[in-house]
Amino acid sequence: MRKASGIVLASNNRHKLEEFSALFKPYPGIKIYPADDFISNANKLGLVETSDRYMDNALAKARTCNHACHYPSLADDSGLEVDALQGGPGVRSHRFAIPKHGQTQDQANCELLLNKLDGLPPEKRAARFICHLALVMEGLSIHAVGVCEGTIALKKSGDGGFGYDPLFIPTGESKSFAELGPEFKNAHSHRALALRNLMFELQARGISLAKP
Ligand code: IMP
Repeated sequence: MRKASGIVLASNNRHKLEEFSALFKPYPGIKIYPADDFISNANKLGLVETSDRYMDNALAKARTCNHACHYPSLADDSGLEVDALQGGPGVRSHRFAIPKHGQTQDQANCELLLNKLDGLPPEKRAARFICHLALVMEGLSIHAVGVCEGTIALKKSGDGGFGYDPLFIPTGESKSFAELGPEFKNAHSHRALALRNLMFELQARGISLAKP
């Protein structure tokens, strides 16, 4: 068994890379590397996200990356589920809106979400972030889920984070993820919870990430 002290993140999203790098800090000896450092077509990893199930997409990305680089590979497929939109945008959260000229994808997504919820009071704006993680290494695949409950704000606030962070108010808080900042998010987010569950799963199965 090869000594594995590094995990390659099967993603092109620099925000996810930052979050995972911070989330792995409590696990000494494990470093997160961008897929781009190891494989030449890392920017094409999203092409394998063809399913309408988060778990399948996470597994497909992790497997593709692991086949290409042979290092333990971690992938995240995540999304925002809004009750008033019957669970949408869900697995299609990234490409929810078509950006107008000069708009980023994230700006367009937030604008469309606010428009769709226009007129709904706070108690009808329940939502949750979901994260499915897949780790593929040495022929094994391990899967874990994390969920963070909250509501969609009436308007955007804060400039931290990414995606729908300026609109998402986690349960028990009055500020958005974007205002609460990385420390809060890395302790309570769907991604943080999924990683905690993944680590439990590895421990329960006696799988170690590095040969002692
Ligand atoms: P994917 O997992 O790369 O398919 O993209 C998930 C999409 O869901 C992102 O592009 C964001 O729009 C949204 N999303 C996932 N996690 C977060 C988060 O932590 N904050 C804000 N938006 C998120």
